[in-house]
Amino acid sequence: MAQYAIIGLGSFGITLALQLAKMGNEVIGIDNDRKVVESVASSLSHAVIADATDEVALEELSLAYYDAVVVAIGEDMKASLICVVHLKNLGLQNIWVKATTDEHHLILKSLGVSRIIHPEEEMGVRTARTLYYPMIREYMSLGDRQYVVEIPAIEKLSGTVLSDLLSEVTGHVFCLLIKRREKLYPSPHEQFVIEQGDMLVLAGDRLSLTKLVPRLV
Ligand code: ADP
Repeated sequence: MAQYAIIGLGSFGITLALQLAKMGNEVIGIDNDRKVVESVASSLSHAVIADATDEVALEELSLAYYDAVVVAIGEDMKASLICVVHLKNLGLQNIWVKATTDEHHLILKSLGVSRIIHPEEEMGVRTARTLYYPMIREYMSLGDRQYVVEIPAIEKLSGTVLSDLLSEVTGHVFCLLIKRREKLYPSPHEQFVIEQGDMLVLAGDRLSLTKLVPRLV
C-alpha cells in the first residue's frame, strides 16, 4: 500500500483519487471547494479543504510522508504553479502535475517537475488509435515506435499456426504471450495453434504490426 496526495479534485483529480483508493492505497484528496471535498470524503482516507496556494496550509498536511503528490489543478494555471513552487520548497521530490497548455508545460519543466501529464491529449491520442485499429484491445507504447498490443483472435484465425500468422513479419513482431481463457502461455512455441478467442500479446514496431492488420480483422 502506498500513500498519495491529490491536490485539485476536478474530474481528472477525482477519478485518479478514487481509483488509487480502490486499488487499496491511502489517498488524501485536497481541494478548496467544500462541496467537492464533501462529495469524496467517504471514499478517500482523508479529504481536506485547503487552498493549494497557501504554503502554511500545505506544510500542515505533512505531504513529505506521501509517496507521490499529484497537482491536478488544470484551469487555474497560476494556482497550479504556485502550488508546485511551494511543494518544491517543502522538499518534495515525486511531484506529478497536470498541464493544460504548452505554456503551463514549459514552466513546469523549468521548475524541474518530474512528471508532467496531459490527460486529455493522452486520452485523445489513445482514442484515435483505438478507433483506427479497433482490433487492438489494449496497447502500450515502448518508445521508438515499438509497441506491445493485445489482440483477440477472431474466428478466421482459428486453426492458424502462430509462425504462419507472423511469417511476413518474422524478426520484427514477436508473440510474448497467449491467454486462452484463464490460462497463460508465455513465449508460445512457433507451432502453437491459435483458437478463436485467444488473446495474443504481440510486440513489434508499428509498421510491422500494421502489416499484420489485414490478417487480424
Ligand atoms: P478538470 O479539468 O480535471 O476537471 P479543473 O481544473 O476543472 O480540472 O479542476 C480543478 C480542481 O481544483 C477544482 O475542483 C478546483 O476547485 C480545484 N482548485 C482550483 N484552485 C485551487 C486551489 N487554489 N486550491 C485547491 N484546489 C483548487
